[in-house]
Amino acid sequence: MSSGSGLKQWISNDLLVRTITIEGVIEIREPLRVGAGKSDTLTSTSDLPVLKLRFGEEEIPVIPGSSWKGVFRSRVESHLKTYGKKVCGGPGDTCMDRGNLKQRLEQLQRRPSESSRQEIISILSRDLCLACKIFGAPSYISKVHFSDSYPLMENGTYMFTLGRKPGIAISRKTGAVRRGAFYNVEFVEPGSRFTFRLDANNLPNYALGFIAKTLTELHEGILRVGGFKTRGFGRIAFVDITHSVSGLAPELNADQGKVLKGFTDRSKLWFDEEDSDVTYDGSTWDLLNKLSKLADEWLEQGREGNG
Ligand SMILES: [Zn+2]
Repeated sequence: MSSGSGLKQWISNDLLVRTITIEGVIEIREPLRVGAGKSDTLTSTSDLPVLKLRFGEEEIPVIPGSSWKGVFRSRVESHLKTYGKKVCGGPGDTCMDRGNLKQRLEQLQRRPSESSRQEIISILSRDLCLACKIFGAPSYISKVHFSDSYPLMENGTYMFTLGRKPGIAISRKTGAVRRGAFYNVEFVEPGSRFTFRLDANNLPNYALGFIAKTLTELHEGILRVGGFKTRGFGRIAFVDITHSVSGLAPELNADQGKVLKGFTDRSKLWFDEEDSDVTYDGSTWDLLNKLSKLADEWLEQGREGNG
């Protein structure tokens, strides 16, 4: 073990090692509600519409990339928490808040030099939790980009159906039904199909493992999307999924491969001593499965008290 520094050059954003793209089609298996965010207020007699985008004459439901990112990030954070790994706390206690990290990084960024750059990489390697490394933090860009999901199109028509259910607004303060607080909950009906795409840049295999684990948990219904999850909403499944690898490091390209090389080559700048290669049968599901196992092993290592 020559390198005990724990430096992770892949953290730097001026290196492009590889991009893994995962694309697929999801089928809605339970009513799905992704609301319109802050305008989604519960006022009496009003409806709770799903978030829609206007395309010409038509309004179609959308699952924004930011919703996917929220689902993935909070799942990864909860795994980190469960295994006693470093993880962001609540507002005011994120990795960037601790030890004045944000200010220290901003100071270094104001004095651009190779030694500042290395200092930044060293700070990010040591002080960011894995969720921040993957999904970003204030003044540190995300390595994963989630595209917005739209209904599939067939013969020029978007294939989706919307349903409505009556709901009752409960007062958060008293737990009682609010007077006149009946409303209609709009949702995407089961059977509708949506696009899905994520691009992950410069992540070592064990970090990709957390993306893979979350995808698998979504597919298995362990994890749901959107609102009203406790009322039987939000289950989805992948009816189609593919992966591709691109980037500047051809030896990491697994396109024709049964091996997804990790950042395991000590002679390369992106070397990460925590990473491993992954062997799989060529299919995307087997790759996701093997990557998930790597994430599980990474979590278990923390339990030995050497993380
Ligand atoms: Zn963090």
